[in-house]
Amino acid sequence: MRNNGKEIAEAEIVLKGLGVSHGIATGPAYLVQIEHPEPPEYALEPGQTEAEAARFDAAVRQAQQELFALKRKSTGLPGDAAEEIALLLDAHMAMLSGSRLVRGVRARILKDQINAESAIRREIDSIAGQFNRIKDTYIAARGEDVRNVGYRIIRILMNVPFLSLDDVPPGGIVLALEISPAETALLDPRRFSGIATVHGGVTGHTAVMARSLGLPAVLGLERKALESLHHGAPAIVDGIGGKLILNPTEATQRHYERRMQDLKADKATLDKLTRQPAVTTDGTEIVLRANLELPRETDNLPASGANGIGLFRTEFMFMNRDTVPSEEEQFETIVEVVRAMKGAPVTFRTLDIGGDKLARALGAHLNASANPALGLRAIRLSLKEPHLLEAQFRAILRAGYFGPVRILLPMVTTAAEVEEARIILHKCHDALKKEKTPMAADMPPLGTMIEIPAAALSADSLAAVSDFFALGTNDLIQYTVAIDRGNDQVASLFNPLNPAVLRLMEFSIQAGLRAGIPVSICGEMAADPKLTALLIGLGIREMSLGFSSLPRIKQRIRSLSIAQAENHAKYIMDQYDPDRIIQIVNSFRS
Ligand code: PEP
Ligand code: MG
Repeated sequence: MRNNGKEIAEAEIVLKGLGVSHGIATGPAYLVQIEHPEPPEYALEPGQTEAEAARFDAAVRQAQQELFALKRKSTGLPGDAAEEIALLLDAHMAMLSGSRLVRGVRARILKDQINAESAIRREIDSIAGQFNRIKDTYIAARGEDVRNVGYRIIRILMNVPFLSLDDVPPGGIVLALEISPAETALLDPRRFSGIATVHGGVTGHTAVMARSLGLPAVLGLERKALESLHHGAPAIVDGIGGKLILNPTEATQRHYERRMQDLKADKATLDKLTRQPAVTTDGTEIVLRANLELPRETDNLPASGANGIGLFRTEFMFMNRDTVPSEEEQFETIVEVVRAMKGAPVTFRTLDIGGDKLARALGAHLNASANPALGLRAIRLSLKEPHLLEAQFRAILRAGYFGPVRILLPMVTTAAEVEEARIILHKCHDALKKEKTPMAADMPPLGTMIEIPAAALSADSLAAVSDFFALGTNDLIQYTVAIDRGNDQVASLFNPLNPAVLRLMEFSIQAGLRAGIPVSICGEMAADPKLTALLIGLGIREMSLGFSSLPRIKQRIRSLSIAQAENHAKYIMDQYDPDRIIQIVNSFRS
């Protein structure tokens, strides 16, 4: 900027957002996208509706072609990113053929006699509105997908081109109101250094894409980011701290250069750990397994060093579809995972639908509750509708022919539920045997999730009927401190270190160990390196967590001794003040 003929630097602006992709990027920032175009709205004459529907059909065909072209273009992207994007583009293409979106828009044109653009806008508002009512970030992200596909067709109808990324110079940071997942396909990380947007959440597809592309990203920025920007202004995307810094001062630049060096060194060290065992300094092995939602994630397994799958959330096979998957369909999906694991065990958790996770296919059972988290969900639904459980058990038993499998029951409250499930499991086993269907040689271990305070408090009776325990701390925290895990307004009160939570965990771990059954933890606590010493000190010897966090946790385990961890845990368990516990955890060094 010039002032009285003198060059002066623009003031540094720090904007807060959500750091959704680990890493830091520096470069010139470019605003690449304006808001969605405002669609025209007009009524049709009765004789015009068929022609308007045909105009809409033609735009849908063009949108399909565009997505095909994008898919071709994205095959050149590095690593997993190409596959990830192809799956997303496939999902968008599926929305363009015979979906509720396409059917709904046609019906609105023909019945309401309105132009295609406004019919699309009304239909996407209606679908996204229904999704938003569910108040779940995953489902809200699917609403965004519908909106993106809808606006693609609107742009085609209005002849408004997508803003090109061509003007962004190599190494630039893409700043946008929002970037759709399809547009993310154009963000080759060899060309762009980072992403910053106003819209988007941690579990949205743009965030997923950014992570798989390895692009540092900050989403959910304050809107003034767009107003504060001069094209090409120097910028820093801090994907760890969740910040976009425009016009950084020299001191800020030096600070981030140092952090980037540290990150580089860190990654090199973590990469070297892949083949190293997860042992403490005094030689105790901690079994590290991976949490998995989608079968294709097994591709990440070799690089992560995981020893099998500790939690496969089968409910994801039930989402984004109108019908319940058959035994055969479930078998095909899970056998793929078992095969890919080449002899490492896979733990399949039976359906955990309800509460924050809904599936259209089971909507009739799940909609009518004022407190869905306390309603007919998970094992309760599976026992009420045993055909659901039977199909899952049969599919898992059959997959057991191809490699070791374990079965995990979600949201258990009483030992009777485990016993009832075990009877059904044996019935399925007998039936398969009679049918001479190939299946697991031995009955797979049947484990119980400890994620309800009542289960933790009766862990001794549950241990007597379970082959292993898995601590689901995400729900255990939610139910113990009465904080909805998906609600932003109380997110700061969702505290894993609340002494009540820790006591329930300690009680269940001890009950499991006394009974001689393995006890693992598969909630997000397992992925936080600050908590590793505490968990080991409490007696945990198995952990299951997301692939990307595995190397860091392994590194932490390798820096600890069991004696240190036990002393640390003992000290914490003597405390009653959550803030003091946080302080102790943060200052603990091994
Ligand atoms: C948990 O509750 O900690 C857990 C692992 O299960 P989910 O997050 O799927 O509810
Ligand atoms: Mg849970």
